[in-house]
Amino acid sequence: MFIFDKINSIQQKIGSLKPTTSIGFVPTMGALHKGHLALIEQAKNENDIVVVSIFVNPTQFNNQNDLLNYPKPLENDLSLLKSMRCDIVFTPSTVEIYQKKVVSESFDFEGLQLVMEGKFRKGHFEGVGTVVKRLFEIIKPTRAYFGEKDYQQLQIIKKITNQFNFNIKIIPCPIFRELDGLAMSSRNSRLTKEQRLVVPFIYKTLSIVKDKFSAFNVEEINKWVENQFKKQPLLKLEYFQIADEETLQPITVKNPSIKYRAFIAVFVGEIRLIDNISL
Ligand code: AMP
Repeated sequence: MFIFDKINSIQQKIGSLKPTTSIGFVPTMGALHKGHLALIEQAKNENDIVVVSIFVNPTQFNNQNDLLNYPKPLENDLSLLKSMRCDIVFTPSTVEIYQKKVVSESFDFEGLQLVMEGKFRKGHFEGVGTVVKRLFEIIKPTRAYFGEKDYQQLQIIKKITNQFNFNIKIIPCPIFRELDGLAMSSRNSRLTKEQRLVVPFIYKTLSIVKDKFSAFNVEEINKWVENQFKKQPLLKLEYFQIADEETLQPITVKNPSIKYRAFIAVFVGEIRLIDNISL
């Protein structure tokens, strides 16, 4: 496994490969869990080589405490990647990616950024867009793998790929969950035992929403979800929204030809967890 922290070195390595080599790319912020590993496994199966990046991108954090507390177990990540026979790992520094100006570029996400994560985490998607565009330019992968766990991010990445004419196939990967339904997340490692016991409630609620979706109207469902969270002293609902899977705009009236998804963000103490479900 090759590990590079400089753009020049990784580009030299990639430049030395046969031009027909297909490259599967999995961008991550590290603190790898089975959800990440499932993306890497899929990338391995579908490409000649796999590149994984580990970069905790400062410009996508709207909350400095979240950035400071984000887990960064690099040695553990590298040994996991080695055991998976990952080919290349890119672990750039902030200076390597941003030089002196740690700021985001501007993008036109055509409204995708106005709801949910974009609304509650100001500047988040400009940060994501900036780093993913930069990584795409450096690595020039054949395919790039993104989890549906960050569904809005996936739609934003598809938009950027089109807008900047990247010749990269964006591959969505299903959400990987713990046995009790909790969506795997690097942030889960920060939960106390007590918090860990209550967070499966998030997915449980989404699953009931899925069952209710055909029989109840959206207002009734929204109200029901709000009431459920009021009964949970350790959980604070930030948003719950049922939206068109493509445009991410909130549902107005149910249209049988549109696919919908329910999206949720919940605070457990200072830890913010997100999840979603196809309806
Ligand atoms: P992160 O390190 O959180 O930036 O995530 C890196 C990639 O892994 C993103 O494409 C995420 O959507 C994906 N990912 C994170 N958690 C999961 C999960 N539980 N299931 C599937 N994909 C995930």
